[in-house]
Amino acid sequence: MVVRTIPVEDFDLVIFGATGDLAHRKILPGLYRRYLAGQMPPDARIIGAARSELTDDGFRDETRKAIEEFAPKVDKSQLDAFLGQLSYVAIDAKGTGGWEQLKERMRDGVVRAFYFSVAPSLFGDLAQRLSEYGIADDSSRIVVEKPFGRDLESARALNATLAQHFAEKQIYRIDHYLGKETVQNLMAVRFANILFEPLWNAQFVDHVQITVSETVGVGGRGSYYDNSGAMRDMVQNHLMQLLCLTAMEPPYHFDPDAVRDEKLKVIRALEPVSETEIVRGQYQADGGDPGYIDDAENPASRTESYVALKVRISNWRWQGTPFYLRTGKKLRARTSEIVITFKEPPHSIFDESGQKANQLVIRLQPDEGMDLTVMIKEPGPGGMRLMQVPLDMSFADALGTEAADMPDAYERLIMDVIRGNQTLFMRGDEVEAAWAWADPIIKAWEEGKARPEPYDPGSSGPDEALRLMHRDNRRWREIRA
Ligand code: NAP
Repeated sequence: MVVRTIPVEDFDLVIFGATGDLAHRKILPGLYRRYLAGQMPPDARIIGAARSELTDDGFRDETRKAIEEFAPKVDKSQLDAFLGQLSYVAIDAKGTGGWEQLKERMRDGVVRAFYFSVAPSLFGDLAQRLSEYGIADDSSRIVVEKPFGRDLESARALNATLAQHFAEKQIYRIDHYLGKETVQNLMAVRFANILFEPLWNAQFVDHVQITVSETVGVGGRGSYYDNSGAMRDMVQNHLMQLLCLTAMEPPYHFDPDAVRDEKLKVIRALEPVSETEIVRGQYQADGGDPGYIDDAENPASRTESYVALKVRISNWRWQGTPFYLRTGKKLRARTSEIVITFKEPPHSIFDESGQKANQLVIRLQPDEGMDLTVMIKEPGPGGMRLMQVPLDMSFADALGTEAADMPDAYERLIMDVIRGNQTLFMRGDEVEAAWAWADPIIKAWEEGKARPEPYDPGSSGPDEALRLMHRDNRRWREIRA
């Protein structure tokens, strides 16, 4: 199968924070891959900006090193030509130098996009100066990174600051989970097939599990993470977005606002979560390996590196079908998946049934794809015994060598910004609604005295999280790579 690449319009993309980790690991290698794929127009320009005093060539050298380090397998034969489209301006977001120079570099008649890959505390300064210096106009776009606030109040303040200079249709709040192929496929599977949608409700779905597990600890980000925790860092944004796409009603059209309206309705329908239905955890030290409190350099820390919770959606479709979410660090394997467990048939006609519920597993990583488990007859003579088999659709298998050329989430999302398509970006009211739901949970923890449950590195989380499921006569799907 051939992956079709449609070139985007000509653009000038300014990356604020172009010398930082995200730019080096994701944004610049991603843009190079789009260049190789023929999606980046030959005149398009990428302008790096940060405080470091670099020449254009200095920035190109840094970018070359970053691409060699973070995209080692990618063909480098066109790297020089790509680097020729790059330049650099030294700018302090809070200062006055460099802005006029940036303005002169920008061309008229092309898409102007500004990627804010800097600390969120600088978003307001950048937005203000872009409009003050007349660099951004009504058709320009800004891309803002997570975290988008740390609670409802700060998210509202940030939305209000950006709104002083940019209209909502110009603001692209990035959640890279939404750029994953499988996440979009979830919408295709649900809304382009007749098979699933009639079963996609409380009458036929027993429960849904959403898991995002990581094997790494908080490492060098310890002090940042200690002010955040899994609920803020993962649940309020990434897991919430996955929940919305799984639970939402069919939008009337695959149109940015139609999709985002439906997601917002899901968030608004979330019931408050009771304290007995949340488990927080912290990974322990293991042999020579530091525990969470060592990584965070805070022995008294009560910040969670793991959270599991049971979520109820109060609407007709999902009444009585819980969604269980969990995410954590230093777990057994790195995986992200959504598991829809259907109800068992109402009556078994087989004596020795071995009946198991059908499951649809939507894998975001590793090996993006989907599995549907079905019951079949165990092959061979000797009676009717049932066995469960997966109908497996791995994108790597389906697409063959083309799978390697599929854009990763950041690449796809940046190209969507240039195309002016906001479908896979969070709208301001969605972000605020998600904080309004998460805030009371976080506040109750912060006001309480309880410590997170300890768990062993390499495990699947605290035992209490297993009990959260067992109490409901259910079990988590095993975390495996
Ligand atoms: P980083 O490595 O600390 O880079 C920060 C960048 O901002 C550098 O290029 C820095 O360059 C520039 N900068 C700092 N102060 C500035 C100022 N006053 N004016 C202009 N530029 C300034 O951070 P990062 O990890 O790349 O993260 C960037 C953003 O992405 C953050 O909002 C982060 O939360 C978000 N994010 C990052 C990741 C990731 O994997 N890294 C993942 C998700 C979200 P100079 O020092 O030269 O100015």
